[in-house]
Amino acid sequence: MKIAFIGLGNMGGGMAANLARAGHAVRAFDLSEEALSKARVSGCETFDSVREAVEGVEAVVSMLPGGAIVKAVFTADVIGHAPKHAILLDCSTIDVATAREVERLAAEAGYQMVDAPVSGGIAAAAAGSLTFMVGGSGKAFKRASEVLEPMGKAVIHAGGAGAGQAAKICNNMMLAIHMIGTCEGFTMARRLGLDSQVFYDIASVSSGQSWSVTSYCPVPGVGPETPADHGYKGGFATALMLKDLKLAMEAAATANMDPHLGRHAKDLYQAFDEAGNGALDFSAIIKTV
Ligand code: NAD
Repeated sequence: MKIAFIGLGNMGGGMAANLARAGHAVRAFDLSEEALSKARVSGCETFDSVREAVEGVEAVVSMLPGGAIVKAVFTADVIGHAPKHAILLDCSTIDVATAREVERLAAEAGYQMVDAPVSGGIAAAAAGSLTFMVGGSGKAFKRASEVLEPMGKAVIHAGGAGAGQAAKICNNMMLAIHMIGTCEGFTMARRLGLDSQVFYDIASVSSGQSWSVTSYCPVPGVGPETPADHGYKGGFATALMLKDLKLAMEAAATANMDPHLGRHAKDLYQAFDEAGNGALDFSAIIKTV
């Protein structure tokens, strides 16, 4: 399949490489020359503009920093420029309202489009083991799945337009709350005299169990290898967690809801980010407990 890929950063670079590895003809574009030269090394053909990249394609995939950029790229250079039969997929994490608006504009111009944000970080993008949460019609989901499969371990239909973004931010709000709770639990257990490994062995098979405990333990040297074992480098940056929590708070307001723990988690991550820790993995918040 001929696929345009827009946004070849930390995530998009690995994803585009996996599409090329699966035998697709990937037509790549990014504003960064460095990202373009990496994409060439991984088997993509690169272009000087979005409009050139989308010429004659059967699918367009984007992995961009935020909603305003996604809207600008799709309205200026994809909608009306890619062939009408091309399926459009935005895999960026953006606000639900913008996702729905861009999908409506695409539909009005005769395109099928889905929002398909991901769970999993840079390592999962490179390994092709992301989870995709897809919002769009059943027909669009079926077509999108074919494009997404080489990049992921799971592709799930979340519902109509914007449902993928809704699932993503609700999931990440839960993750932030679980992580802070896990940090508090492990810190308190240690101060009460428990060995962290012993507490891990107990919590990971008890009702305190969660992904933050068993797969992403914030305590160095405990559980599987995580960013905690590497000075909280790599992994999922605090700044990106904060971005998702802000999106969650925006979405909550439109849903007429004030999620107390979600808001508190957002405030704690905001303070941690403002203290200069934006580049550290989000589990580093254990330092503030
Ligand atoms: P990144 O900043 O590394 O990559 C974004 C890329 O988009 C950059 O290479 C940039 O040059 C390019 N870009 C910006 N504007 C552009 C434009 N107008 N046209 C073409 N290219 C443009 O970011 P990332 O970490 O790859 O994240 C991308 C998206 O994935 C974000 O929405 C993020 O929230 C989401 N996400 C990231 C992670 C993660 O762990 N990094 C995990 C899940 C989801």
